[in-house]
Amino acid sequence: MDGKVLIFSAPSGSGKSTIIRHLLTQVQGLRFSISATSRAPRGEERDGVEYYFFSPEQFREKIAAGEFLEYEEVYPGRFYGTLRRPVDEMLAEGTNVVFDVDVVGGCNIKQAYGDRALSIFIQPPSVDELRKRLVARATDTPEAIDQRVAKAEQELAFAPRFDAVVVNDNLDEAQRETVALVRDFLGR
Ligand code: ADP
Ligand code: 5GP
Repeated sequence: MDGKVLIFSAPSGSGKSTIIRHLLTQVQGLRFSISATSRAPRGEERDGVEYYFFSPEQFREKIAAGEFLEYEEVYPGRFYGTLRRPVDEMLAEGTNVVFDVDVVGGCNIKQAYGDRALSIFIQPPSVDELRKRLVARATDTPEAIDQRVAKAEQELAFAPRFDAVVVNDNLDEAQRETVALVRDFLGR
């Protein structure tokens, strides 16, 4: 049987990566879809692990070649996208695939997979708290943090388009809620 699709979207800093990392340790048979990006690696990020890191030119070539299932210019000059081939291969072998994508990408992937997909929006308790988390994470320049916070207001308006919204105030609770939603969707 083909695998299912689990989509996570949220404004940057909401805790999406943290929640996904926890989910992957709790539910068997899930694999993370490694996105491609034209931004530089951050902190300890490694090519082919957190992302495939491409130059903007390489990224544009792959867009032209139709290699992306979806892609977005999430911030000016910074592309993010999902390569079609690895996802098709994982789904065909029955693996459930987890996506960490921006809100527009999340809606597009949900539309492409319909009932085979569960889309979850991770919501921060407030925009102020979001900024605090980005500052505390200490992986972005002050300009990048301003850019991410400015975008968050717009992104929050997408929440009602998702199948479920998890508010990440208390991390333990948000993680528990996410695991329960995914188990329920997968029927286990
Ligand atoms: P995203 O993937 O959405 O950009 P991260 O998972 O990197 O967000 O989380 C942003 C920062 O906030 C990280 O430093 C993370 O440890 C922290 N964080 C995540 N959830 C919470 C929470 N509920 N309360 C406080 N800090 C949190
Ligand atoms: P970050 O730079 O914090 O890793 O990611 C910035 C934003 O890009 C996040 O909202 C993240 O979900 C989104 N993103 C990561 N990969 C993809 C992707 O493959 N497609 C789309 N549309 N967005 C992505």
